[in-house]
Amino acid sequence: MIHDRHLFGPGPTNPYPEATLALGAPILGHLDPAFLELMDDTCAMLRQVWGTSNARTLPISATGSAGMEAAFVNTVHPGDVVVVAVNGLFGQRMCDVAARCGAEVVPVEHDWGQPVDVERVLAAHPAPAIIAAVHAETSTGVRSDIAALGAGKGDALLLVDAVTSIGGIELRADDWGVDVGYAGTQKCLGVAPGLAPFTINDRAFARRVERPQSWYLDLGLLGGYVGEASGSGGRTYHHTAPVAMVASLHAGLTRILDEGLEAVWARHEAAGRQLQDGLEEMGLELFAAEGHRLPELTTVKVPEGVDSAAVRRYLLTNHDLEIGAGAGSFAASVWRIGLMGPNARPDRVLLVLAALRDALGRV
Ligand code: PLP
Repeated sequence: MIHDRHLFGPGPTNPYPEATLALGAPILGHLDPAFLELMDDTCAMLRQVWGTSNARTLPISATGSAGMEAAFVNTVHPGDVVVVAVNGLFGQRMCDVAARCGAEVVPVEHDWGQPVDVERVLAAHPAPAIIAAVHAETSTGVRSDIAALGAGKGDALLLVDAVTSIGGIELRADDWGVDVGYAGTQKCLGVAPGLAPFTINDRAFARRVERPQSWYLDLGLLGGYVGEASGSGGRTYHHTAPVAMVASLHAGLTRILDEGLEAVWARHEAAGRQLQDGLEEMGLELFAAEGHRLPELTTVKVPEGVDSAAVRRYLLTNHDLEIGAGAGSFAASVWRIGLMGPNARPDRVLLVLAALRDALGRV
């Protein structure tokens, strides 16, 4: 079945055309020298979008959640104190994953829609092994200040979820003191879901768990998978690379870096501002705290008396346009509108505003 949907949900964006075309290209063998070169290039470009010089920067062969698992399973030693900033669904998930790795989790809860309160997080424990936070909370549309966490982290490792920020808003892993980071391909990178761009610095790698519970996500073994690019020396078989997805990510990253990373950030910023201004002009109320709103993911309160699901259904049926429902207890009271990758453009904003205006007049 072929759909011609405009996806403005927080989930997979329509990929950049280059990334889609790459999925249809002839498949290289996973040990073909041309593929190994493509992988090396992909890792090099990932360093640029992460803002890092970490040798160990690679696309893990699974979705963003596997990046989260890899981050914790490789760094949490049994009984380690892990302070987690929880201001949405993905902070909650971090707590679960860290606990399963044997951490003593110290969650720092926030109201949904608010950014991470850096002082409260830093004061939550005198000597945590790890401080973890989500840079861009997809469940609420909020951006948090990772640089401030990095400046105050002390001896702790700073572990950051950049699934919805990478390739969309400013992200400077090294400058901000990020020790371990994971992301996804399906948001602002404008590639299909399926890989988890991952980075870990030498400091965190030196403290890693020698034999983590997960064989597949063991970074000690994964180093061989990307060989020289990992800084580990030779290349050894670990698993068969998902070559089509890596080729697609390569094409998406090339697209972004050709446009210029800062220009891409500015494009997302402008589109988000245009959308948020337009929604407020329509009399709608935004959900995320002012001053901390993500441009790539806008959360809107469903107006009193409006059936959230009926509006979403109307948009899908009449405009081929999908916007997201709210997350968690906000499922029926908030919409989430993504403007990610190729959708972060003025014409797409006008489309979603016009369609929503139409829906609100009819449903
Ligand atoms: N973290 C954040 C902030 C996310 O938005 C998502 C997915 O939407 C994830 C983690 C999990 O990624 P995935 O669904 O690719 O496993």
